[in-house]
Amino acid sequence: MHVRTLILGGGLTGLSAAYHLDDQARQTGDASLGNWLLVEKDTRLGGLTRTEDVRGYKFDHTGHWLHLRYPEMKAFVDEVAGDLMIRVARKSRIWSHGSLTHFPFQQNLHGLPLPIVHECLQGVIDAALAHARGGQPAPAHFLDFCQQTFGAGITRHFMVPYNTKLWGCAPEDITADWCSRFLPRPKLEQVTAGALGLVDDQAGYNATFVYPRQGGIEAFARRIIDRLPAFKVRLGTQPVVIDLAAHTAELSDGSVVDFERLVSSVPLPAFLRVCRHLPAAVAEAGRQLRCTSLRYLVYGIARPGVLDDIQWLYVPEPKYPFYRIGSFSNAVPSLAPPGGASLYVEVANNVAASDDEVKGSVRAFLRERGWLGDDREVEVEEVRHIRYGYVVFDQPYFGAKDTILAHLAAQRVHSLGRYGAWVYSSMEDAMWDGFTYARDLAAGKLAVDSRVAV
Ligand SMILES: Cc1cc2nc3c(=O)[nH]c(=O)nc-3n(C[C@H](O)[C@H](O)[C@H](O)COP(=O)(O)OP(=O)(O)OC[C@H]3O[C@@H](n4cnc5c(N)ncnc54)[C@H](O)[C@@H]3O)c2cc1C
Repeated sequence: MHVRTLILGGGLTGLSAAYHLDDQARQTGDASLGNWLLVEKDTRLGGLTRTEDVRGYKFDHTGHWLHLRYPEMKAFVDEVAGDLMIRVARKSRIWSHGSLTHFPFQQNLHGLPLPIVHECLQGVIDAALAHARGGQPAPAHFLDFCQQTFGAGITRHFMVPYNTKLWGCAPEDITADWCSRFLPRPKLEQVTAGALGLVDDQAGYNATFVYPRQGGIEAFARRIIDRLPAFKVRLGTQPVVIDLAAHTAELSDGSVVDFERLVSSVPLPAFLRVCRHLPAAVAEAGRQLRCTSLRYLVYGIARPGVLDDIQWLYVPEPKYPFYRIGSFSNAVPSLAPPGGASLYVEVANNVAASDDEVKGSVRAFLRERGWLGDDREVEVEEVRHIRYGYVVFDQPYFGAKDTILAHLAAQRVHSLGRYGAWVYSSMEDAMWDGFTYARDLAAGKLAVDSRVAV
């Protein structure tokens, strides 16, 4: 079988690439753009944007809230799902030192015990003075970055404990390159205002988001899936061998596909493992890629008011094995039966606590806060895993990733999406990757740069 574009993976990246290739074929009249085959190893499309229903409680793969910043993606979401999506205002909080404070911690110290507020505020002022004096070296790692940006107190009470849980390694072992977009950096006057209790609910990239009014995030993915011709999608299939020189893929169903171009959203290390004719430097770079794996729990609780009206709660202190608890149904009530709550609890990557110990800790936490009474209210309590969670931005990261992606692009192989491009990115970015691939291919902008060789 010959195809112009072989697409690997049917998460939002692959779905968007397929959808937009057909769209470009229609717009340009070049039918060959629509000559694609999408191969998905699971028996269901959607990737991380699938939603599971357990006894009426709907669970995404932890919170999947759609934040849109590109006008093209806003238009796309409107086109496929304008009637389905609702806009929701963020309600997130932080639980630390026995207090509930507003997000982000660094901008909302009000409510913490006064000695903590004092320590954090003094640290911010010291950091601002040091910055004004100039001459600071560039931060060598994330810890340096936090101390220079937020000062010692915020670093000690939030940045270090929270990020150690999230990334599963010491803040000295990662760089600060991931945080330019995801970590709000308030000005000094915003920090002092927040310490006095003046809340700015618009801080950060995610002050509002859009989400399907019902059906979970998968209902959105379905809107794209339903527009793809089924005969161009092969489920339960994956590549066994990809020959980058011959441009052929042997698939697990025994067939061989001959492709002109390949779009892969398969996690990069797994993709490289099936590639033949990789230069040694690329294979070596592949071995340097690191990623967290996630363990999380989902809860269906037959009780109103769990987590009050909070949609997600950051829990930085090391005494808790989890770092975030979220309520799907506080964001969109249709995600739980009437009077109930559907929750997710994300567990630190570096804790040895067994599943039962984590469950005990979650129940105790909910009970202490008055969010759980009798154990019989817990109708669903399940442990889930995500093999590839957060790409780790350690020192070898950029060199290794750039070496691999440049080599693949020179073979007309575009590795895209959060795990294909090996980045910290969002659902919108995944759709953007698929969209820009199709747009650039149609515009003839994906000519191979023959200078790139490893
Ligand atoms: C815990 C967590 C929370 C997140 N929360 C948010 C959020 O709130 N908002 C947001 O915008 N983004 C969020 N994201 C990011 C978002 O999930 C991703 O950016 C996006 O879904 C990535 O889509 P993708 O298609 O690139 O990858 P995936 O969704 O992982 O899809 C990849 C697909 O490839 C398939 N596959 C894998 N290996 C093979 C193979 N060998 N052959 C064929 N197919 C294969 C998989 O089965 C899967 O279907 C979150 C991510 C995580 C991990």
